Amino acid sequence: MNYKFNQNKACEFFPCHKMENLEEFSCMFCYCPLYMLGKECGGNFKYTAGGIKDCSNCILPHIKDVGYDHIQKKMLHVIECVRNEHLRDIGEEDKIINLK
Ligand code: SF4
Repeated sequence: MNYKFNQNKACEFFPCHKMENLEEFSCMFCYCPLYMLGKECGGNFKYTAGGIKDCSNCILPHIKDVGYDHIQKKMLHVIECVRNEHLRDIGEEDKIINLK
């Protein structure tokens, strides 16, 4: 499915992560949208001494189909986080729901 995959071999950094089958390497999520989920992103990362997530060993967002489906599922959690933050800001904590 084309909406789940694109690849840019002309990119100066391609492939930015080591992967066996480069034909399956997806560039769709070049900057992972799950960074903000911290340890709940589901990927293989470690924290640097300065507290930055180092995702150099994570190929999850780049695996054709698998990465797309994983990120779509996790985006429900991102939506929940933003919604709950807003509800807290406006004093409507009673409407907070947990989509997990
Ligand atoms: S690249 Fe991997 S480890 Fe980094 S935020 Fe995304 S899923 Fe998590």
